[in-house]
Amino acid sequence: MSIRRIGLLTSGGDAPGMNTAIRAVVRGAVAREVSVMGIEDGYDGLLKGRLRELRPRDVGDILHKGGTFLQTARCKEMMTEAGQREAVRMINQHDIDGLVVIGGDGSLRGARRLSELGVKVVGIPASIDNDIYGTSMSLGVDTALNTILDATDKLRDTASSHERAFLIETMGRGSGYLATMAGLICGAELVVIPEVPTTVDDIGRAIEAAYARGKNHAFVIVAEGAEPKVREIAAHLEESDIGFKSRVTILGHVQRGGRPTAFDRLLANRMGIAAVNALIDGEDDVMVGLGADAISLVPLEDVVSRVRDLQSDYYEMISILAR
Ligand code: ADP
Repeated sequence: MSIRRIGLLTSGGDAPGMNTAIRAVVRGAVAREVSVMGIEDGYDGLLKGRLRELRPRDVGDILHKGGTFLQTARCKEMMTEAGQREAVRMINQHDIDGLVVIGGDGSLRGARRLSELGVKVVGIPASIDNDIYGTSMSLGVDTALNTILDATDKLRDTASSHERAFLIETMGRGSGYLATMAGLICGAELVVIPEVPTTVDDIGRAIEAAYARGKNHAFVIVAEGAEPKVREIAAHLEESDIGFKSRVTILGHVQRGGRPTAFDRLLANRMGIAAVNALIDGEDDVMVGLGADAISLVPLEDVVSRVRDLQSDYYEMISILAR
């Protein structure tokens, strides 16, 4: 059966680049004479019937804005069999022949469930944590890294002027990707991430060694989901003789927002177009992923059942570059 109408939703945590991808999906579909129903508030809006047709003019002037113009939400009902069946019923009721889901790991699990129930689905990975298997970059990651870069450069100015050790908490509940990359781009002594056991003594020793080498500041990046927590580390450093006085900065939600960078816009455009073309050309149950230099199609089954490897070579580089 040919695809005449596509449903489109953004779900889970918002990420810069979602808007660019929405625009690419709508315009890419219309270029192939396929209409698009925008679904508000992710799976929640699907279940509640909040759908409207999106035409090319409706998605004007959004490509450079953070967040998602379709809104996003978390939806508990979608985690249940009944909720998933209701989602399929809504998709059929609105004559939607294929669905594009833009979101993180959880949203793609939802997409996979719908696929198992017979819906034609293509996923677009969007998550600042970059924790999705099957793509080297997810939407929003590059923008988040640039936000972190901006913040750490500013902190470096004050850290050097006052001989401080800065403990900086980045987002990342289950993944150390952002913290690891942040460690590289700001020149940290050490990063503390969920994937690698680290003690307060390890951290104290790394800072003390930087002081002994004559550095006038030190940075430690701590992922929000890592142990020990940033406050615990600060309390330990307070009681130890590490040379520097320490300060804590929690970057928080600023990492999620902001205008998507050039990289994120390019990726969103490529992924949006690739997702639409895949659906129209008869592919489904896949996610568009960024490979070495091209977009590839990754079975959703792999996406939801495999774990993305931490790029441990980057982790190793931090200590080398801290010298
Ligand atoms: P993200 O997509 O950013 O990882 P969540 O993990 O919160 O965010 O997932 C977003 C939404 O996707 C959830 O609120 C739920 O509606 C849906 N979802 C998540 N996991 C599943 C699952 N295993 N099965 C069905 N739907 C899911």
